[in-house]
Formats: sequence, C-alpha cells, structure tokens
Amino acid sequence: MLNVAQALDIILSSVAIVPRELLSLSDAHRRILADAVIASEDIPPFDNSAVDGYAVRFEDVSSPSVILNIVGEVGAGETTSPEVRTGEAVRIMTGGKVPAGANAVVPVEGTEPVDPTHVRVSRAISLGQNIRRAGEDIQKGERVLNAGLELRAAELGVLASLGRKSVEVYRRPRAAFLATGNELIDVDEPLQGGKIRNSNSYTLRALIEEAGAIPLDLGIARDDAAELRAKLLKGFDAEALITSGGVSVGRYDLVQEVLEGLGVEIKFWKVNMKPGMPFLFGMYHTTPVFGLPGNPVSTMVTFLQLVRPALRRMMGVSVSEKRIPIRAELAEDIEKTDGKRHFLRGVAETRNGILTVRTTETQSSGVLTSLVKANCLIVVPEDTDLLRSGDFVEIEFL
Ligand code: AMP
Ligand code: MG
Repeated sequence: MLNVAQALDIILSSVAIVPRELLSLSDAHRRILADAVIASEDIPPFDNSAVDGYAVRFEDVSSPSVILNIVGEVGAGETTSPEVRTGEAVRIMTGGKVPAGANAVVPVEGTEPVDPTHVRVSRAISLGQNIRRAGEDIQKGERVLNAGLELRAAELGVLASLGRKSVEVYRRPRAAFLATGNELIDVDEPLQGGKIRNSNSYTLRALIEEAGAIPLDLGIARDDAAELRAKLLKGFDAEALITSGGVSVGRYDLVQEVLEGLGVEIKFWKVNMKPGMPFLFGMYHTTPVFGLPGNPVSTMVTFLQLVRPALRRMMGVSVSEKRIPIRAELAEDIEKTDGKRHFLRGVAETRNGILTVRTTETQSSGVLTSLVKANCLIVVPEDTDLLRSGDFVEIEFL
C-alpha cells in the first residue's frame, strides 16, 4: 500500500496548472501570482521624512540648544521648499520630501518654538537620522514577489505601491463534489428509517473554498451505478472532481467501478493512513478525480492531506508552499500497532511556555465533533508504535 508521501507525489505529478487571467488589483486577494514582479521604480521614490519635525544639517545641531532659522515648510506630497543652508531649518511633515541641503530631520519632540521663524533644537542627531532613503524598501530592478506567491494584504499593498493596477494570476479551479450513499438525505429532510443527513457536502464546500477553488455541488447520488454515472458525468466539466463515500469494500461501494466504466484511469486505491485508508485517486483525461471515504472525519482528513495540496498546485502555488513543521510536547501516551500514518485530532495549547498537545479523546472517524474540538492534527508516523507523554510530536494546525 502507498504511504501518504508517495500518494501525494503521484497526485501532484498528475495535476496541471490552470490557465491564467488578468485581474484588477482589487479583485486579486488570495489569488496566486502568475509572474514574478520586478520593481520598475524605487520605493520610496525619494528621500522623505520618517517624522514630523525639522529638516536640518546635522552638523548644525551637534551642540545642545542651537537656534535655527525656519526658512520654509514641506508637507507630504509637496516638493517646493528652499534649500537648507547652515543655520537653517525647514519644517517637514512625515512623508515630506527632504529638501536639498538637509541631511537629517529633528523630530518635533526634540525642539522648542522660539518665535514663528525660529526654533530651538534641544537634541543632537546623527547624519541621515529620520530620513527614509529612496529605494530603502524596494530598489528599481529588484525582484519583489515570486511567481506562485499567494496575494495577501502585504503583497497587494506592494503591488499598489509599484503602480500595478492589474495583475496576472491563475484562475480558480472549479472543484465539483458529489456525496454518495443510499442513507443520505439533505439537511432540510426529516430523519427516518436509517437515514442520516449529508454533512460531507457542506464540509467539502467549505474546504474547497478555503483552499481557494470554486465549489460546484453535484448533490447526492444513491449507491446505484446509473445514478452515479449520470451525476459523475456532470463533474468532468470541472477542473477537479471529488466524491465522498462508496470507495470501501462494501457491497454498495460502487464509485471505483463506475469511474472506471466512465474511462477514469485509476492511479491508486488505498493509502496507508488512518483515518482515510480507502482513498481513491484517478485521472479522467486531465481532470483529477478524488474518491474520499465517507466517514466525515476521513473525508476532512484526506481532503486536507491529499486534495488540498493538489488544488493549491493547480492554482499555481509554488512548490515551496509547505507547512512549517511544528512540534509539540505530548501530554499523554499514544500507542498504535497498525503501521499506518495516523492523523489524530488534537488540542494544542501553551503550558508554562511550552507548546503541548493532547488528543480530543474519541478518535472514531465518524465523530465529526472531534474536529470541532480540535485545533490541530497530531501526525504519528508509520513506523512509530509508541509515544510517551513528554515526547515531541509533529502537529499540523487546522
Ligand atoms: P462509506 O465510505 O460510503 O462506506 O461511508 C462510511 C460512513 O460515512 C457511513 O457511516 C456513511 O453513512 C457515512 N457517510 C457517507 N457519506 C456521508 C455524508 N455525505 N455525510 C455524512 N456521513 C456520510
Ligand atoms: Mg456509502
């Protein structure tokens, strides 16, 4: 049986990046940058003041209590101001362009007014102090943002300061999802006769959105080959197809054979993990097809481990987007004997300054509230049988 890393390798090498589009900067939040951004100009574009104060020649104020002649004023966004000569100062606001001749700015707090045209400087300053140099943030020609980067608040701000009104990003792939099972009814139907409500469609929609893709709900299919076929066919228009349920070894687990019948090339079935072992992956031409086990926790865990990275890769996210490994001290013993990679629902918290983690107790893959209580998954590697309280384990925050 494949382990999780091998399964993920196969998935990631099977999927292709979606086409790009040009978007207005205001619409680009959380999109993935398609081209590296090279600065076309210096940021800031000119030397400017970091404080409200007086632009001076620092040599003039090396001794305490010097009185300078105020020869002008420069506000943010203004350029006209006289040159600062020996014995002179120009009143300057934060962001104001530093006038010629000045080589430091004394903050208002370091001065006292004498009269409307004179100021006493009571604090010595050094050369260049409180001046933000042109190009201090970004230099013209510098590569500022790499392709494959997600555009968040800071990146959008940088693009705006470089004058990019629009930006080339990757499209959001559409991910169609189908719940399967004779027992499933929709949220607004009354419970009766062995039925349960379909929760996976709601968790999957949220997971797909959170990954940055567009969810397309194909509804519920009964465990019936003809109905599965009809509903799955609609999903092949999307860039990815995700099913839940029907991939185990029960008599009514028909997803695999129906997919095969439709021409999906099954790449693998079963991954050495818990929860989520019966996970199925195939390709329909260029469309990846993910068959997730139906237990709600298995659905979520396999999505996070194996589907989300694929959607992110399809969206153009650079290879280097990896979770930073976080290790926490276990607050209990953990034992297993099945050689699988376990993803336990955990609660991490800081105790006495140390990140510690405990399980949410029940680990049944049917108990979805374990994922409500959890704030992380505890990763127990395949070859680890026993972990003691006090050992450090890898966790993945949810
Ligand atoms: P399966 O993978 O089809 O064998 O389903 C495993 C378990 O998950 C069964 O107890 C199903 O009733 C449950 N299950 C399957 N699909 C869903 C769903 N969409 N929402 C909630 N539970 C489900
Ligand atoms: Mg089923």
